[in-house]
Amino acid sequence: MFPFPKENHVYLDYNATTPPDKEVLKTAQKSFNYWGNPSSVHQAAMESKNLIWKSREKVSQFIGCHPLEVIFTSGASESNNFALKGLFEKNGGEKNELIISSVEHPSLMMTAEYLSQKGFKVHKIPVSREGVLDEYFFDRCLNQKTLLVSIMVANNETGILTSLPRLIQKAKSKGSYFHSDMVQLLGKLPVNVRDLNIDLASFSAHKCYGLKGCGILYCKKGVSLENLIHGGPQERSRRAGTENLSGIVAFGAVAEKANYFLEEQKNMKELRDKMEEEILSSIPNVEIIGYKVERLPNTSSIFISGVEGETLLMNLDLKGFFVSVGSACNSGKIDSSSVLTSMGFTERESRSCIRVSLGCGTRKKDIDNFVKTLKNVIERLRSLRD
Ligand code: PLP
Repeated sequence: MFPFPKENHVYLDYNATTPPDKEVLKTAQKSFNYWGNPSSVHQAAMESKNLIWKSREKVSQFIGCHPLEVIFTSGASESNNFALKGLFEKNGGEKNELIISSVEHPSLMMTAEYLSQKGFKVHKIPVSREGVLDEYFFDRCLNQKTLLVSIMVANNETGILTSLPRLIQKAKSKGSYFHSDMVQLLGKLPVNVRDLNIDLASFSAHKCYGLKGCGILYCKKGVSLENLIHGGPQERSRRAGTENLSGIVAFGAVAEKANYFLEEQKNMKELRDKMEEEILSSIPNVEIIGYKVERLPNTSSIFISGVEGETLLMNLDLKGFFVSVGSACNSGKIDSSSVLTSMGFTERESRSCIRVSLGCGTRKKDIDNFVKTLKNVIERLRSLRD
């Protein structure tokens, strides 16, 4: 396995996944010794069961809820599927409409598409070029038949934040449930689902220095969902399947270090802002997407006129800088980012964007070297085109 990162590598793709924190990893490794099935009744199971409970308590404090409102899942894709399908299958009668934004993660978009094929009505709320939700459109869609509103709080591609309190209040006034994909917020800005008075929220451990394959669906007491995975009695019979003990323990360890991760964001924001300043002042014809609106402290989505994002990414990769593009590569064909096209960028423009996302390991010298390299690569690619 290639040890990562190598000395000369600069990882700037923390919104895709984060390296597990060293202390978190140590705690998770210790849990490997407790391999008893938590559902068994003998002594070998007891410690596994205890570890899950302790972790449940820690993560519930992290997100601001009661431990029994936490359902451990395999990740946020499952949590998003569970929230939407579970709610509509259980409660979709008179109230049969869903409201989402047009910039949701595919795990939510595709689930909404599935529900629409099942006959439920789905409204997609557009956003402006700055990524701001069209609240006037939202008001027109929200009605007594709205069963659920699901709006993400922080966009994974642009880092643009959506303020939820007023939307939640409006949804409540129509007797609708509110779910939010909060994956990108966790560990970057404080989260408190109780204060928000939200019904459902999705989280993923690997976006916050934990392990892959472990997530949470926060489900407020009293909210009834149809199960997504049927079988055993795990998670109080709400989500069957033997628990991912090390993933859950690691999530608890992440929660214990919450203050550290949140504190690190100040440093990250300073680095991110400085990086954007330097990019804007030294490279012509670039735009920082959502520059003027509230964004996550670690994310920059950069539009670079006349340069193919995928080509730029590969050139940066060869030089040891790892960023991402919003577009997806399907069978050799590069799709444009639906987030950016929803924001009003043309398909071509959206293919000229890269996402740079910083994390706890990012240092000033990494950013200095990145900006220098980015400038050189862009100059070279543009000169080949001219
Ligand atoms: N939601 C958002 C906003 C994400 O960024 C991601 C991961 O890319 C997911 C959901 C899916 O998370 P997971 O990888 O845990 O399934």
